[in-house]
Amino acid sequence: METLVLSHTYQPLDRIGWQRAITLWVLDKVEILESYDDRTIRSVSFAIEMPAVVRFVHAVRMRMTHPRFSRENVFARDKGRCQYCGKKLSRSESTYDHVVPRRLGGPTRWDNIVIACLTCNQRKGGRTPEQAGMKLATHPVRPKSLPSTLRFTLPAPEMVPVPWRQYFYDLTYWHGALDET
Ligand SMILES: [Zn+2]
Repeated sequence: METLVLSHTYQPLDRIGWQRAITLWVLDKVEILESYDDRTIRSVSFAIEMPAVVRFVHAVRMRMTHPRFSRENVFARDKGRCQYCGKKLSRSESTYDHVVPRRLGGPTRWDNIVIACLTCNQRKGGRTPEQAGMKLATHPVRPKSLPSTLRFTLPAPEMVPVPWRQYFYDLTYWHGALDET
């Protein structure tokens, strides 16, 4: 089981193993906000419920790391819009397009992947935007930062533990499928 770590301002920062969360708690670095109530951890000296969500008691300085290259983060960088027609897409509607197609040597990298609606993706086919007569809304780059909720990869919607959900204001935005549950 994993524990969601929040900043002292309740921003999701990371997901860590529950063992590490317990260590942070023992060191008084975090407070436990939510527990997995069906799981109790027993040691010689204490028994507590497994932490589901913890919060740093004091401000922590975030290491500035580049966001990792992942589907979610490409989706976030492109603000959920098809980079060809500008249509707003849900996560399940979005496809990932190699700007320079793979068969032409286009790499799977921040600067060559954008999100596109299915229609645009199919229309473009295995061509470059120029060949297809299509224009990119923005030039894809590797972002320096993204909203803090996306510093780490969320599990698939149905796998996001229930105690975590209230801490993601935009979980339904990132995971449209949650709307249907
Ligand atoms: Zn489109």
